[in-house]
Amino acid sequence: MRFGCRGLIVVCVALLLTGLGVRWCAAETAPASTTAPTAVAQPASAQAYNLPPDKLAKAIALSRIRNILDIAGSIWGIVFLWLLMALRGWSGLEGWAQRISGRRWIQGAIFFAAFFVITTLASMPLDWIGHHYSRAYGISVQGWGSWFGDQAKALGLTIVFGTLALLLFNWIVQRWPRRYWLGIWLVTIPILLLILFAEPVAIEPLFDKFEPLSQSNPALVTELERVVARTGTNIPPERMYLMKASEKTNGLNAYVSGIGATKRIVVWDTTAGRIPNDEVLFIFGHESGHYVLHHIWKGFTGAVIAFFFIYWACAGFATWMVKRFGAGWGLQELSSRAGFVVLLFTISIAGFILEPAGNAFSRHFEHQADVYGQEAIHGIVADPQKTTVAAFNDLGEAWLEDPNPNPFIEFWLFNHPSTEHRANFAMHYDPWANRGHGEFFKN
Ligand SMILES: [Zn+2]
Repeated sequence: MRFGCRGLIVVCVALLLTGLGVRWCAAETAPASTTAPTAVAQPASAQAYNLPPDKLAKAIALSRIRNILDIAGSIWGIVFLWLLMALRGWSGLEGWAQRISGRRWIQGAIFFAAFFVITTLASMPLDWIGHHYSRAYGISVQGWGSWFGDQAKALGLTIVFGTLALLLFNWIVQRWPRRYWLGIWLVTIPILLLILFAEPVAIEPLFDKFEPLSQSNPALVTELERVVARTGTNIPPERMYLMKASEKTNGLNAYVSGIGATKRIVVWDTTAGRIPNDEVLFIFGHESGHYVLHHIWKGFTGAVIAFFFIYWACAGFATWMVKRFGAGWGLQELSSRAGFVVLLFTISIAGFILEPAGNAFSRHFEHQADVYGQEAIHGIVADPQKTTVAAFNDLGEAWLEDPNPNPFIEFWLFNHPSTEHRANFAMHYDPWANRGHGEFFKN
């Protein structure tokens, strides 16, 4: 789910459950799904991030495909929900669920489970195209059987947990028809916390294999401990994991996830051992920056505040829509199952409109983590500037990032600054010149 998979599941569940602002600070170093087409390539000498000509052409072509799929996926998700409202599909589904069982909660469970199956199937073609191109360009090495298996697992999880969540939310709408948005907001908070806490131990292992980093890379762990010592973080080797990403991708990555007892740093096995250890130290320093600068908590707080206003505005919008169009769509009230989809529809629109705002926060955090990472390896690697620029070049090449993305695309879709911007900053960042010191470290 790293490229081209912005389906309806993402719109409906990720927005409702994982939050606008939480996932994007979970800190992937490589922006897997973001780059843009470009009309004119700058001369190579002006760039901090360069690709050989054959890879440059591929990167530009692939970026265009990624952007189209990303935007098309978001719009299609919204249009599909609307189409089934206007064609009375959701009210028909509700009638069908009512004929199957007399119990209200069973009707709801059937309705929402079917809702997830239908919306997943609707987003499947775009996901499929995304995976096809990812394989064609040599980023993904995941076979179709394994890929469909992952899709099935994700759908199963969504059906179980998404249905439970939507049943609860729908019940709140029925119970408090006027102030339900406040109730939904209140229960969103513990649900978000639970997801953040449980994701690395309950969800991630279902899709990928993890092992202690020290098992296969003891020398690297020893080097990483020097960064740990310099950053003053309390990240013991038990919290450093290696993810077996090479079974599915050639991309490079590392990330932090979890909160409290489940907090950890994960390095992909495509990264550890494939690029120089100095560069891994920088990536680790960047991830440590997210850890030290409390980006997960800041993102969580931002999402919770945003949700308060989003739910309030969407509730008003959805009430108006049901009044205005409900009769034509076969809906009497918002508290019905089909009426609840109107609320999901308005939240999807809010998510789409607010995506640039969320991405702007994310890019700010990512830039901070870049600065932190470069400072963290000062005194440990010979030349932090050189190492950092080299790391961005390796990351960009592995993901085929476009060196010259369109600025509007960067503004709208990028949750990390473009690789060129990151590499260019690193190339010129030298706070230690003239005996100065960095922003986050005293030496
Ligand atoms: Zn990051």
